[in-house]
Amino acid sequence: MSPAATAVSAPAYTGHLTNGDPTKAAKSYKPTHPGKFEVQFRDGEYNSCLVALQDYSKGETIAMMSHASPSKAIRYSTVQVTENDHIELNSDLLYCNHSCSPSVHFNVSSPDPSKWHAEALRDIKQGDVLEFFYPSTEWNMSQPFDCSCGAGNKCLKRISGAKYISPEVLNTYVVNDHIKRLKANQQQNA
Ligand SMILES: [Zn+2]
Repeated sequence: MSPAATAVSAPAYTGHLTNGDPTKAAKSYKPTHPGKFEVQFRDGEYNSCLVALQDYSKGETIAMMSHASPSKAIRYSTVQVTENDHIELNSDLLYCNHSCSPSVHFNVSSPDPSKWHAEALRDIKQGDVLEFFYPSTEWNMSQPFDCSCGAGNKCLKRISGAKYISPEVLNTYVVNDHIKRLKANQQQNA
């Protein structure tokens, strides 16, 4: 094993870009869901994206989150699954970027982790970019960012987690049960 390979320590998914450039990542890339979707590597950190390799009907399961593992740390790459728990996806789903007008929902509302999955929020065509709404899982994000998703007046501009979104706006999105509970709690304590 080369020193470079050792530096990207297992068992974490090694496709992501924080340790290298997209060209390098593209060369060693092995799709985790061949035939279903794949990463398109683009220059610049966080510019790569996930693209559908088949059509999906609204409501259809795109992939189970069977590669996921619990994470103690909260990172840009983790997904929040309860009030207190976070996971690393350890798969190409990591490249499912944020959109304020998402095509995908990360459904982690089941108490049974084996049921967690990504599903189509609308009909998706082969070649479409797969994106989800980060505040549908994240309450208080470790790395807020200015959004340029291009969703017109639907774009929330600053994405920091569901904690910072009004209940009226949040209600227009499909979000997970832990986010609904946290928002209800926040309202009660306001
Ligand atoms: Zn946006």
